[in-house]
Amino acid sequence: MGLIPLTELFSFLLGAALGSFANVCIHRIPRRQSVVRPPSSCPHCGERIAPLDNIPLLSYVLLKGKCRHCGGTISLRYPLVEALTGLLSLALFIRYGPTVQYLFFLAFIWILVTISFIDLDQQIIPHALSVPGVLLGLTASFFAPNRPWLDSLIGIAAGWGSLYLVAACFRRLTGKEGMGGGDMVLLAMLGAWLGWRSLPLVVLLSSVLGILIGGGALLTTRKGLGVRIPFGPFLSLGGLSYLFFGRQILAWYTSLWM
Ligand SMILES: [Zn+2]
Repeated sequence: MGLIPLTELFSFLLGAALGSFANVCIHRIPRRQSVVRPPSSCPHCGERIAPLDNIPLLSYVLLKGKCRHCGGTISLRYPLVEALTGLLSLALFIRYGPTVQYLFFLAFIWILVTISFIDLDQQIIPHALSVPGVLLGLTASFFAPNRPWLDSLIGIAAGWGSLYLVAACFRRLTGKEGMGGGDMVLLAMLGAWLGWRSLPLVVLLSSVLGILIGGGALLTTRKGLGVRIPFGPFLSLGGLSYLFFGRQILAWYTSLWM
């Protein structure tokens, strides 16, 4: 096996560092705390985490998942989020190379990962992340070789509008709120980044993943159907699947009917 090329390694490390920042945002944005100050501290003893103990992935391994001061357990989720953003960044770099598209889509995946974990924790999708995500997606379309800005703009309207309609029908039929406004802005964001043509497949993928994973979780935890399953992580997964495998999925689907 040859050496990993340095630029690829760098893209992974850049992604992991952004994952470290995502961990801070996932914790602080729903609590309306600053994501810049104060520096990170241990949730158990409150001791400030030194920069050397705050290296993505590496510090977790070196500290064996425990705080240097009090020995309290560091959640496994921190290194997992860092590994996830690192791998997604690497995958983007392999696809786009050292281009402005790589940087734009790095912002895209960062917002999706951050939103997903906040939605898992708190059942909200902060507009502070999704609205800039919509605007950045539209901006990115002006630099994209094969995604006209009009596709992006229609994607925003169609993404928001389609979930708005679903929510309105659901409310009329059941008298209950089934879907939050955050989900609508998130699908608008996916429409902005992936274009309006992506939306039917993104919604289909998200729903299938939601039924399989969310339904499985409901069955194993036996919490019943009253529990609200956050839809944000599944929309994000659907969007990422489309970004990386959309062409293959469409080709496979078409081959079923030919
Ligand atoms: Zn501690």
